[in-house]
Amino acid sequence: MSRPGIPVGVLELAFGLPGASAISLQNGLNRLANHMRSDTSNVANKVQLPNIHLNMSRLRITSGTSEESRATGMTSKDRITLYQDQGVQLLLGRFVKGEIVELVPSFDLSQTARYPEVEEVVDGDTTAAKQLVERLWDVGIFKRKFHEKILVCPSCLSANVSNDYVCPNCNSIDIERKTLLEHTACGTIDSVDNFLIEGGLYCPKCNKELIEAGVDYQKLGAWFQCSQCGKRSDLPSPIHRCRSCGHIFTIKDTGFVNVYSYRISADAEEEFKRTFLVMRPIGATLEDFQYKVEMPGQIAGRSGALHRFDAVASKGSLELVVLDVVASEREIEETPIASLYAKVFDVSPTQTILVAIPRLSEKAKKLAALYRISVIEANDSQQAAELLKEHFGWTGLSGNEESIDDLQL
Ligand SMILES: [Zn+2]
Ligand SMILES: [Zn+2]
Ligand SMILES: [Zn+2]
Repeated sequence: MSRPGIPVGVLELAFGLPGASAISLQNGLNRLANHMRSDTSNVANKVQLPNIHLNMSRLRITSGTSEESRATGMTSKDRITLYQDQGVQLLLGRFVKGEIVELVPSFDLSQTARYPEVEEVVDGDTTAAKQLVERLWDVGIFKRKFHEKILVCPSCLSANVSNDYVCPNCNSIDIERKTLLEHTACGTIDSVDNFLIEGGLYCPKCNKELIEAGVDYQKLGAWFQCSQCGKRSDLPSPIHRCRSCGHIFTIKDTGFVNVYSYRISADAEEEFKRTFLVMRPIGATLEDFQYKVEMPGQIAGRSGALHRFDAVASKGSLELVVLDVVASEREIEETPIASLYAKVFDVSPTQTILVAIPRLSEKAKKLAALYRISVIEANDSQQAAELLKEHFGWTGLSGNEESIDDLQL
């Protein structure tokens, strides 16, 4: 890897202070955009990552410590796509089980920041891990908190940057700190060099030995002397040197990268449990019956409106099964039946199934029968999948529409 660290997951880049030139800012942004583009292509086969566009409005200096949630650019479809990814499933599954509470970045000279728990689910690929974290934040699955600001080279974005001090006169790094001493007894003030004789301290004027600091002598301060031009200064100039590309720069051109810690958002956790954990056994059953399954799936109705179902299962153009899941602590009333029917009326599938966890009220069941909606009542999604298997066992071969009686198993 000749390419130095790329702070991808964390890109709140602030190139310098307001005085920084527009040209250097633009250069930095272009390089940044190139980095991100190439990184995206590297991992495209592991996690489906649409091109990340560089959004100017995100380039700002931030110093807040509060938790942020992504407000824009998040669509449910993007999240659903991510939930289908195996790496994402592993990662979010660990959040759901409580094995991970927060992703805390660890500083890394070549990578700027690393997220070890995420690396585990992308075959140890550090760059893909940061891409994935950024993606999960972009679509609103993660919320984040400011963790650290890392100084990076404005030229190559490496975090392997030194802090040096140079002579303000000739910019040489070859400077020495000189300490000024005062002999308390006689009042002589001179550089410590002139007191040092064979490892001991002796007053250059009265030749007395100085033993105890603070009693025999005082340290009055320090200055810096340049070994190249000989000039003295109180305060050498701080500069940064990039150890990766050699670029020398000051605070005015420094790149800053904000690094964040991440947690799963409560809404996303619910959505993930529902669309992935709950639906997985149901989806597997549908696939066992040779359906092509989308979870959730969208179908355009005759009205032109798009309707979303928890699962849409199809076999060619002949069979279309739509399925919704309703879970509640209590008995489920008619409302979800009515709203499912409203969608079905527009879409006209061959079969409509409502999975009710744990059960429907008697009135709701009657309504479902009236609307020709098959009902599966189950204690959990695993049991629902079993009952769904039986349901297709009864109806699958005949292809006939079933009645509600078929489901009183
Ligand atoms: Zn100098
Ligand atoms: Zn003296
Ligand atoms: Zn550099």
